[in-house]
Amino acid sequence: MMPKTQRKFCPKCRKHTEHVIHKMSSGKQRRSMAAGQRRFLRKMTGFGSFPKSNPHDRAKPTKKLDLRYECKECKKQHSIGLGFRVKKFEMTK
Ligand SMILES: [Zn+2]
Repeated sequence: MMPKTQRKFCPKCRKHTEHVIHKMSSGKQRRSMAAGQRRFLRKMTGFGSFPKSNPHDRAKPTKKLDLRYECKECKKQHSIGLGFRVKKFEMTK
């Protein structure tokens, strides 16, 4: 269980403020015009199969969690590092 708001350091305000925690959904497409994404879309058109075959048994049982912290004062979002691995994640209501 994790609280919805936390007091954290805001790099913009350069002090500790209240932060709202957002969990980024994995299904949503980000960086839709990034170089790698454009290359992937080009590969997907026309003939030829999916560039990488889907591994049937996953090497890792957990997925990385991408949390974003939104400062309540300046409304800027920031994350911590590259996320962390957890099996189960819950927010306190
Ligand atoms: Zn701030």
